[in-house]
Amino acid sequence: MRAYNFCAGPAALPTAVLEKAQQEMLDWQGKGLSIMEMSHRSNDYVAVAEKAEADLRKLMNIPENYKVLFLQGGASLQFSAIPLNLLGKNNKADYIHTGIWSEKALKEAKRYGDVNVVDAATLIDGKHAITEQSTWNLSNDAAYVHYADNETIGGLQFADVPNVTAPLVCDYSSSILSAPVDVNKFGLIYAGAQKNIGPAGLTIVIIRDDLLDQAKPEIPSILKYGDQAKNGSMVNTPATYAWYLSGLVFEWLLEQGGVDAIYKINQDKAKLLYSYIDASDFYNNPIAIANRSMMNVPFTLADEALEKTFLKEAEENHLLNLAGHRSVGGMRASIYNAVPLEGVQALVSFMDEFAKRHG
Ligand SMILES: *Cc1c(COP(=O)(O)O)cnc(C)c1O
Repeated sequence: MRAYNFCAGPAALPTAVLEKAQQEMLDWQGKGLSIMEMSHRSNDYVAVAEKAEADLRKLMNIPENYKVLFLQGGASLQFSAIPLNLLGKNNKADYIHTGIWSEKALKEAKRYGDVNVVDAATLIDGKHAITEQSTWNLSNDAAYVHYADNETIGGLQFADVPNVTAPLVCDYSSSILSAPVDVNKFGLIYAGAQKNIGPAGLTIVIIRDDLLDQAKPEIPSILKYGDQAKNGSMVNTPATYAWYLSGLVFEWLLEQGGVDAIYKINQDKAKLLYSYIDASDFYNNPIAIANRSMMNVPFTLADEALEKTFLKEAEENHLLNLAGHRSVGGMRASIYNAVPLEGVQALVSFMDEFAKRHG
């Protein structure tokens, strides 16, 4: 049987998608070989790649004046690619710091240019929150403003898209496709696939046309957005299987009714888990309500000594990967698109039964 998987990444994939991939594994559409064994330049593969892009464009309503790139190196390589491509003549950018991932991004950017760090993490009544944008000290000559929509480790998420004048660059790794976004508000959106899209090995970059060709001259061509855009993300061999599988996830999402439909389910899932935690004296979530992540829900138990038992019993109940990130401890339930409402219901009943026995 398939358990419910609450892993933060690589994360759960829809069972229907894995079954389709399994069915096509040995003999893709009667061609006598798997998709993994095909040239990325063959007509068959290019059609698969283009279909994936078209479906993602449909799902996110991506305007014509944006390119969609299917790259490698994870979100972490974008921490370097973004400054190398976008810093431009002023060589300066604003970075909003809200947690571990936005910090990693700004540390890389500092290697290439002048980084103005806006420390936007705060505590309100002992709960983690993001400061009001009106208090941010943004520069007036930044080439772009970078932030991470959802801090996957902390479980801290922006309630709204910041409103800035410089092109807005967002790390959407753990929240892309979980809720509708207006792509027009952004210069660039990027996301590692392994949280809410597909398997590890693929990174999506959505970039506005006017930002494609301002890269530093010494940048490797593989990292250069302009080159990748001109070459259909095939400056070199792309991650063909991850791209194909992500395409199956996009098809699945469209069948579910698209992002609006999955958003409703995601809201129900998050509401169920947070309301249970809030009503309980045994569990606690450390995030202010306005900035709670819809995708990653960290929580602690009243007695830290029970953590190991909690994880062991959860696993026996087919509820997997609930340990918090090694840097923060505690528990974390990642409830991405592929985790169904039934998974969260099963988690909440287990938590309740556990609390009754140990509370
Ligand atoms: C997981 C994650 C990353 C890192 O992704 P890699 O693909 O492993 O480089 C960056 N940012 C956020 C918000 C993440 O959740």
